[in-house]
Order: sequence, then C-alpha cells, then structure tokens
Amino acid sequence: MANQQFDVVVIGGGPGGYVAAIRAAQLGLSTACIESDAYADPKGAVRLGGTCLNVGCIPSKALLRSSELFETANHGFAAHGITAATVKMDVATMLRRKDAIVTQLTTGIKGLFKKNKVTLLAGRGSFAGREGALWQIKVAGQDAAEVVAARHVIVATGSAPRHLDGIPVDNITICDNVGALALPAVPQRLGVIGAGVIGLELGSVWQRLGSAVTILEALPDFLAAADPAVAKEAWKIFTRQQGLKINLGVRIKSVKQTKKCVTVDYETAAGTQKLECDKLIVSVGRVPNVAGLGGDSVGLQLDERGCIAANEHCQTNLENVWAVGDVVRGPMLAHKAMEEGVMVAELIAGQAGHVNYAVIPWVIYTHPEIAWVGQTETQLKNAGIEYRAGQIPFAANGRALGQGDSSGFVRMLACARTDTILGVHIIGANASELIAEAVTAMEFGAVSEDIARICHAHPTLSEVMHEAALAVDKRALHF
Ligand code: FAD
Ligand code: NAD
Repeated sequence: MANQQFDVVVIGGGPGGYVAAIRAAQLGLSTACIESDAYADPKGAVRLGGTCLNVGCIPSKALLRSSELFETANHGFAAHGITAATVKMDVATMLRRKDAIVTQLTTGIKGLFKKNKVTLLAGRGSFAGREGALWQIKVAGQDAAEVVAARHVIVATGSAPRHLDGIPVDNITICDNVGALALPAVPQRLGVIGAGVIGLELGSVWQRLGSAVTILEALPDFLAAADPAVAKEAWKIFTRQQGLKINLGVRIKSVKQTKKCVTVDYETAAGTQKLECDKLIVSVGRVPNVAGLGGDSVGLQLDERGCIAANEHCQTNLENVWAVGDVVRGPMLAHKAMEEGVMVAELIAGQAGHVNYAVIPWVIYTHPEIAWVGQTETQLKNAGIEYRAGQIPFAANGRALGQGDSSGFVRMLACARTDTILGVHIIGANASELIAEAVTAMEFGAVSEDIARICHAHPTLSEVMHEAALAVDKRALHF
C-alpha cells in the first residue's frame, strides 16, 4: 500500500529528471523526484543534478577554464608584452574551486524544488507493480524503504561510464570521468583510451597542466561524427600545434598495472605497441542505467542498444511510463535530456510538447572549441542532397585577431535549391556560444540569405557567421 500518491513520479534527478519535475510542478501536477545517494555530499545528503552537475558538464568546464588560464599565463601573455615571472599550478585549489561550483549548483536545484513544490524522495527508485491506474514505485532509502503511487512515471536514470573487460577502473590510477575530474596531482604521463568528447576535453585539461598525453582511439577516423572539414582542422591543431598524441585504429590488447605505472599493450596497422603511463583514463562511451529499476517485472521494453525503448515523444511501451535523457536513444547530452523532460511534462499536462531532434547542437569544449548543428557534409552527400558551402576563417576577423584567438572557421551548408540552412559547423574561439545563432536560425527554418542580411555587431566573432552565410552565395565581403 503506497504511503503517498503523486500525479508524476520522476526516477532520477539529473538534467532530464529534475527539469521534468520542475516543469510538471509548474503545470500544477503534484510531483516527486527520486534520487539515489550516487552523488551524496560528504554528510550523505542526496545531491541533485546527476552526471551533468556532479561529474560531467559542469566540473569538466570548471577544470577546462582553470587549465586554459594556466596555459595562457604560460604561453599567451608574452605576445601582449606581459611577463609573468613564475606561473604555478596548485591543483588542490583548482579542485576546490570546481567542487564549490558543483555544490553551489546542486544546492541550487534543491532550492528550485522547494520553490516549485517538488517533493524530493531520497533513495533508489524501482517499479513495484501497478494497482488500477496507479504505478507503484519503491523508494529504497539508506535506512528504510517506502512505496509511492503515481499516475505517471518518468524514468530519467541517465547513464554510467562504459568500462572495458580486463581494465579495472579504481578511479585512482585507472579512471573514468569520476576519477579523471579529481586527479590530486598532474600526472607526468597520461594515457587515454577513446578520442571522443571526454577523452579530448579531459585530455586537454591535464595536457595544459603539464601531462604528456597519449590518446588511443579504436576508429581509423578522428572525430568521425563531426563534419570532415572540422575534424581535419581539429586534428591539425590538436596534434601538430598542441602536441596531443592521438593514435587511431588501435586495438587494446591488455592493460597491466604495477606499483610504478600502467602499461597498455595495443595493436595498430604498424604492429604491437606499448604505452606506459602514470594514470589512465577510460572514456569509451556510456551505457544507459537500467539495472535495478525493476523494468523487467513490469515488462518495460529496451531497444537493441539496451536503452529504454521510447518513441519521439519519450513514451515507452507501458501506459503512462515515459523515459527521457541518456537512458533513451539519441545523443547523450544534458540539453537534449532537459528538452525531453520539458516535453514529457507538457504532454502529461495535456499540452503539445515537442523536441526537434534535427536541431540539437553539439559542442566539444576543447581549445579551439568545436560546435555544430544539423547535418554534416558526409551526411548530405550520403543522402544525395545538393548543397552550397560557405566557409570563413576566424583569421579574417578583427576581433579574433585582437583576442589572439584566430584559429578555425565557420562553415555553413545550405540547400542548393532552396537555400535552407542544413548544417553549421564551427571550430574556433567561443564556438559554443556562436552556434546558438545557427540553432535559432534553423529552428525558424532560415535560409542562408536570412543570416547574410542580419546586422551583426562589429567587431565580434559573430561576424564570421555572417560572412560564412554571405560566402554560401559567394559574396563574402571580408574574405
Ligand atoms: P544523469 O545526469 O545521468 O542523471 C541520472 C540521475 O539518476 C543520477 O543522478 C542518478 O544517480 C539517478 N539514478 C539512476 N538510477 C536511479 C534510481 N534507480 N533511483 C534513483 N535515482 C537514480 N552534456 C552536455 O550537454 N554538455 C557537456 O558539456 C557535457 N559534458 C560532459 C562531461 C562529462 C565528463 C560527462 C561524463 C558527461 C557530459 N555530458 C555533457 C553529458 C551529460 O552529463 C548527460 O547527457 C546528462 O547528464 C544526462 O542527463 P540525465 O538526466 O539523462 O542523466
Ligand atoms: P564518445 O562516444 O564521445 O567517445 C568514445 C570514443 O571511444 C569513440 O571515439 C570510440 O570510437 C572510442 N572507443 C570505443 N571503444 C574503444 C576501445 N575499445 N578502444 C579505443 N577506443 C574506443 O564517449 P565519451 O567520450 O566516453 O563520452 C560519453 C558521452 O558523454 C558522449 O557521447 C557525450 O554524449 C557525453 N559528453 C558530452 C560532452 C559535451 O557535450 N561537450 C562532453 C563529455 C561527454
């Protein structure tokens, strides 16, 4: 028999779950959100925000910023005539700053729950059956368990790092994202398995702080998901200019840990090779959190990748059971999870929730940053869609030169027949912010001429977007 009853019970308090809960409560639905002690604070209190706030987006960006400043102080000041005698890095202070930001934001979500009257239930949530129209959800807390009833359930249990057989992660020497965000000192030699988003972002952090970083990537192509022109430019900058060692087409054979170091034996086309490092990061993707959810007991279907099977409205095969974020298909991105959370809450409330999956931006927070939205040139070619491309380098932009940050370009792809913008690909300073203009334009179904005719402030980096739009029609003014 359930102790409490809600219109909506959300399982998981990450970006998908906490946003769904807040929106549902805003729409007048009685709402509870269950969060486990996975990211509990030192006193054991539950922390909201999931992977993103605790061990993902936010702490990684804090460390990226610290390491960027260190890099600039070491190598960027001289060109401005500034001499900084000795630049030192105190890793403990850097980590404390990161932790303080995490605490501030996770506490903030608790405040938002109070403000919006969302009930936080501390414990692990799982399905315990159905009585009439009400789902029974067990909440197993640290000391006791209770059952709550819900008209609607939103599963937002997120994802966990994928580990590899024979490579035991202890988050001290061999780390996934959790340990890689908390290394207490700069390792002399850092190995990374996987040249994806985490490998590049966290590899960059520790490399800027002084580690010799070697990344081992299984695929023969670098950044295969990005536009080929961007991937090519990124490869050039990261490997030749920044000295990141990235080996492609690698097959890991074994990883051995001794007191002195970690040894990775791997194979490439050139034969068997060995990498010795002091710390190893394993960043080979993430897996959906479905274990322990009791999904089997109620017949919740999974798809072929082990995610909860969901349609474009995040409906599962069970009546009034929804699933959002990393636990369902689609990119594992915090903003995608949040959009799905809002959509589902609005659909439950009888509104017309919607997510436009074709216009979800991607950002990789390396330096320079990489950002894109829409289709890549490869996807357009494969689909037989004719397009025109406009590409403008940041080196042609006064603001980028003034900032001393002029590598990369903006590349716009527009339909050859209708001029509709099909994709925008950026590698360059502030790409993460610049992409918003392209996202907005594409949401409004803009053509490249629309951006070409918009007045962009001078001197700003956004003028490169403007010029790229002009370049689609071969009428760039400053290049
Ligand atoms: P999660 O954030 O994983 O949250 C799920 C929550 O559910 C967790 O708090 C978990 O404890 C809880 N939970 C699980 N099972 C149960 C249960 N049975 N009962 C109760 N609670 C449960 N994305 C971006 O968009 N931008 C970035 O810059 C970015 N950087 C990243 C950097 C790193 C290092 C990592 C690892 C990820 C990054 N991501 C980034 C991805 C982003 O963190 C995820 O896409 C996002 O957190 C997914 O949100 P979610 O709510 O689906 O799941
Ligand atoms: P990823 O999918 O981005 O990259 C994993 C990489 O590991 C791939 O290039 C893959 O080919 C490689 N790989 C897989 N198996 C391998 C093996 N056995 N040996 C060597 N290489 C192997 O995954 P990630 O970097 O772990 O990040 C996980 C997810 O978290 C991302 O997909 C992304 O959705 C999210 N994330 C997003 C951001 C961001 O938005 N800026 C930042 C970090 C993480």
